Amino acid sequence: MMDDRTDGKARWSGGLYVHVPFCERKCVYCDFFSVESLEPIEEYLSALGEEIRMSADSVRGMHAATVYLGGGTPSLLSPAQLDRVLANLRELVPFDPGAEITIEVNPGTVTLQSLRNMRELGFNRLSIGIQSFDDAELKFLGRIHTADDARRCISDARAAGFDNISIDLIVSLPGQDEERCASSLREALSLEPQHISAYTLIVEDHTPLAQWVKAGQVKPNDEHREAALYEKTMAMLDRAGYEHYEVSNYARPGFRSRHNSSYWTHTAYLGLGPSAHSFLWKEGAAQARRWSNVRSIGRYCDQLRRRERPLEREESLDAGQLFDEAVFLGLRSDGLDPALLSRRWGRDLTMRQHETVREICNEGWAVVEDGRIRLTARGFLLCDEICARLMVP
Ligand code: SF4
Repeated sequence: MMDDRTDGKARWSGGLYVHVPFCERKCVYCDFFSVESLEPIEEYLSALGEEIRMSADSVRGMHAATVYLGGGTPSLLSPAQLDRVLANLRELVPFDPGAEITIEVNPGTVTLQSLRNMRELGFNRLSIGIQSFDDAELKFLGRIHTADDARRCISDARAAGFDNISIDLIVSLPGQDEERCASSLREALSLEPQHISAYTLIVEDHTPLAQWVKAGQVKPNDEHREAALYEKTMAMLDRAGYEHYEVSNYARPGFRSRHNSSYWTHTAYLGLGPSAHSFLWKEGAAQARRWSNVRSIGRYCDQLRRRERPLEREESLDAGQLFDEAVFLGLRSDGLDPALLSRRWGRDLTMRQHETVREICNEGWAVVEDGRIRLTARGFLLCDEICARLMVP
């Protein structure tokens, strides 16, 4: 987190996240918090306004380098409602002149006009939840849009003036083979988004997908197929000039998600809305604070009506815990810089950890470049295992 001083006042930069917990219909794989009823939107917006006002002390002196409206489906909000959210945020903290301001959109909920409205309101980055360019796969996932809607959404976004577009894809759907996976990727590449998030499908507990798997109605891919599809994704996106800068994220040079990168570098962010997470830490401070909000719109609104913080969980983290986190966050993303960690947290990798780094380099899972330990393509494939090995002090 930067800490500059202007007129004797400490200023520091961080991110803002707003969770918009409404979806037209729940997708079968999704465990993000959202509800299908749009009825409580106004009540939610009032409570959100209250939470934003109550957060002033936590973010005093902060200026927002990134702002992210995620969900849920933020594109279900009207232009006036989006304007209100942004106005409340701007009253809380000033936005940097070059702030990255992202909104997640579902192709089934936008038109050229609504995208124009978003651009005019100040959003300068779109994250479009496409997931697949195969209509049968979209149907299986329970998405409310078709592949044609997704194509149209990207061209409308361009026409509306967006030149920083990210798309989400899901890889390794049950039964998906390499050709089917490659076909969605080819289509994605032909549309030339600046950023692609390609997530391997995870069967999350308490989702319809988990029930189908449990009942034997759906069979997830085995780990060999999953690995082959992940490798295919990496190879195709690498050939197309995308930098693989996090396990599931790829960007054209200069278009990494600044907001998501802040999660992997211990940059402060304030999360607002039901289920949102926050992390606040200032460079040099002995402790950081992390908390999450309740996963219920009713409780969220009730607590804020009583002017109580809608907390689900809160914890303090000391330098040792933050150092441990920085080790695996670094490995999963842009690499691990032991010298930087030492300066930042006053701690060093242990002899055992240095030995593990040598072992994973010998296995071809990581390389050391300019003092930074980075996973190779094969290493990304085994990221969880490598992180677990490296976390043994
Ligand atoms: S639209 Fe997004 S947030 Fe909503 S249910 Fe589907 S995946 Fe989850």
